[in-house]
Amino acid sequence: MVKLNLKEIFKTKNRFTGSYRFKPEDIGLPPDLGELKEPLEVYVEITKEKGGYRVHMEIEGSVVLQCSRCLTLYQKDISKEESIRIEPYPTRDVMYLKPSELDVSFYEDEEAFDLTGLIREQIILSIPTKPLCSPECAPRPASEVGVTTLGDLLKKVNVL
Ligand SMILES: [Zn+2]
Repeated sequence: MVKLNLKEIFKTKNRFTGSYRFKPEDIGLPPDLGELKEPLEVYVEITKEKGGYRVHMEIEGSVVLQCSRCLTLYQKDISKEESIRIEPYPTRDVMYLKPSELDVSFYEDEEAFDLTGLIREQIILSIPTKPLCSPECAPRPASEVGVTTLGDLLKKVNVL
């Protein structure tokens, strides 16, 4: 797990950059969402801003998903660039978010900011709730549903 001590880092500079490689087990994606098979390459750039920080992320990687229609496993590229604001958990009981502040993530500990958790959050946001292997994917016709083994398939194409 990558933890950054933002307090310490920004004592001496006002911009932090880093490149990371996250192994699938580092991210620990919930298995019902999808499966990471390859490491993720992540570049982050963090700058301080009033009351928090701005985190710019470049994520490169892909996730294996199951198509919600035909149930085929397919690989989806989840590479993206994202810029979000992080700030401390609000301590006041009334919290008012302006529309422009909706892309805000909160951190608990400025001295141990959980970068891995933020990346996990971003990956989960990239995963569609109803994944489709292709936009044209149609539910499998009933006549094909019975084809589950190679033998069935060969019978189907009249080889046997
Ligand atoms: Zn499909």
